[in-house]
Amino acid sequence: MEYSKVIAIDGPSGSGKSTIAKKLARSLNLLYIDTGAMFRAIAYQVNEEGIELNWSMGLGDFISSMDMQYGLSDECLISINGHNLTDKIREHHVSKLASIISQIPEIRSYLLDYQRNLAKNDVCVMEGRDIGTVVFPNAFCKFFVTASVEVRSKRRLEQLVESGDENVTLSQVMKDVEKRDKSDMSRDVAPLKQASDAKLVDTSSMNIESVLEELKLGALNKAQEVGITIQ
Ligand code: C5P
Repeated sequence: MEYSKVIAIDGPSGSGKSTIAKKLARSLNLLYIDTGAMFRAIAYQVNEEGIELNWSMGLGDFISSMDMQYGLSDECLISINGHNLTDKIREHHVSKLASIISQIPEIRSYLLDYQRNLAKNDVCVMEGRDIGTVVFPNAFCKFFVTASVEVRSKRRLEQLVESGDENVTLSQVMKDVEKRDKSDMSRDVAPLKQASDAKLVDTSSMNIESVLEELKLGALNKAQEVGITIQ
């Protein structure tokens, strides 16, 4: 079997996968690719420009002519048409919009090509919802990172408060998390699900260091098994 040089990390929001994926990439000195940031950036910009969520009513033109840049610098994780959206995409309202945007097949198809292209040269850590199932079904290493709804909502709330969003409550966040899980898991195109060959990691009662250790060891073992050099 020909493996893609990708460590795929999928899972629901708030599972800790972003923090872990970032740390894993840093500790193995690998490229880090946050695919959620791409859905978020498109959602933010489309909303800013008042574009209708209809492919043939302007959305298609916007997507085919936009210039999206991922990972330009430490300060600029993602930009569209020259606008650095790195901080803006973390605002609370963008999560909902991203989830809606992510159900549009043409957007998924555009981002599928974009993501495959980004990962074509180097070994990378790519995180999202469908990396191990759709984007890179042949990834040499796959993790499905999850945690209980309550734990995930508390983590999300902390992030929002940290970023200055003081008006959100835990019950509001829990409702949003459950709603987003449902729509991510039940959508027709590329739903969130564990790949059959992905290792399940439940972070509900684990600290970051032990999750990182587990993933790092798992990735290094897999790499050795299939003959991919990552360090
Ligand atoms: O991971 P994050 O919460 O930043 O992703 C934002 C939204 O983008 C998710 O709720 C999900 O709907 C969508 N998404 C997706 N497929 C991915 C990554 C994110 O559908 N690979």
